[in-house]
Order: sequence, then C-alpha cells, then structure tokens
Amino acid sequence: MRALSTTELLSVWERGASQPPVHRALTLLAAACPESPPDSLADLSIGRRDERLIALRELTFGAEFTGLANCPACDEKIELSFHASDLRLGKELEPPAEFDLQLAEHRLRFRLPTSADLLTVNSREQLLERCLSNGHGNLPETVLATVIETMSRADPLADIQLALRCASCGHQWEAPFDIVAFFWSEISAAARGLLREVHTLASAYGWAESEILALSPARRRYYLELVNA
Ligand SMILES: [Zn+2]
Repeated sequence: MRALSTTELLSVWERGASQPPVHRALTLLAAACPESPPDSLADLSIGRRDERLIALRELTFGAEFTGLANCPACDEKIELSFHASDLRLGKELEPPAEFDLQLAEHRLRFRLPTSADLLTVNSREQLLERCLSNGHGNLPETVLATVIETMSRADPLADIQLALRCASCGHQWEAPFDIVAFFWSEISAAARGLLREVHTLASAYGWAESEILALSPARRRYYLELVNA
C-alpha cells in the first residue's frame, strides 16, 4: 500500500462520487493496493478493510484526525482530535477465517462479514445467513446475539467507538467513528481544492490539466502565490 497520488486521488473521487459507501471503500483500497486482486479486497472482513483504510488515510493525509461533534447533553460543539494509533490501539488482531462455536445444543460455524457480503444483503438476517455455514435457520435470538458478539470481538475495527468528553459540561459519551465517511469527505474536499488550483493556474498560464497536476505541490503552491499576488 502507498499514498494516493494527486491524479489517483482525483480519479478515485470521480469514480466514487456516485457510489454507495461499501463500493467507495473498495474503490479507495483498489487504487492504493493495485497488487491485490479486487476480489481479495472485497473478501476482507470489515475491520481488516477499515484497518487498511486508516493506514491509507495516514499515508495520504497524515496520522492526525480532527473533527467536530455536538455534546448530546448541552449541545456545545466540541472539537475532536486524535491520532491514527488511538483508533487502532490494541485492535490489530488477525481473526481466524472461520469460527467454531458450541452453544448448548447448537454447533455453529461462521466467518466474519465482508464487503462482498454487505454488497449483497439487505438485512441483518441475510448477513447472518451468509456468514453462518449452515444458515441461521431457526436459531434462537440469544444464540444469534452471541454470534454477533463473537464477530465484533474478533473484528473490533469494524465498529470503532470514540470516547468523547464535553469540556463545557463534563458529559462523557461514545460516538461511532466511520473511517469510510470521514476519509471520503477529506478526499472530496482535497479533490475540489485541486480542481480549483487547476482552474486558477490554467486560466493564468494556459497550461493543460495534466501539466498542472504533474507539478509538485510546492511548485503548484508557489505559482498560485504568484497568480494571487
Ligand atoms: Zn456538554
């Protein structure tokens, strides 16, 4: 895996703009991991996929994350900042390909949900049906709850919760962190910024888009300063 180049970032943004989030996640990973067959990326568990997306985000935009949240108690806006390692902390597990669980009289074999699963199912029932090798049939709800619990313990990055604290009122809560949505909004902002720069430089110098994008960021910035001086 390597950082997205300027042109890759733009083409990922172009391709992903009309895609739902599960597709977007795969579009991003496919651009960063050209050596991995697309099917193998779709077969990663959601946590392993998100682990790679966090790594790609770190390579592309750095390891610091910032964002905003609203305190649910006093509605104060709070600024979040965290490091990529806060998200991963102790969660780099290598989950087994298949789980074998005996629960009372139920012998369960299952695997973790993947992007390929999410692309085909519409409900939790269908997802479990695909992941349990004998289907979920008439399994009692308590058994299914244990299966889901086992899945999320084995693949913790599939559901990242940020521990937040409001500086104004002291309220503490947990909020889900969605790396796909977070990274995508950054990609989208960066792509628009790049196109604005292309527009400014093309208007000033008559250069082609490909020529402008081939400039190093430092050169592009310097020409922009001259144009805006
Ligand atoms: Zn508060």
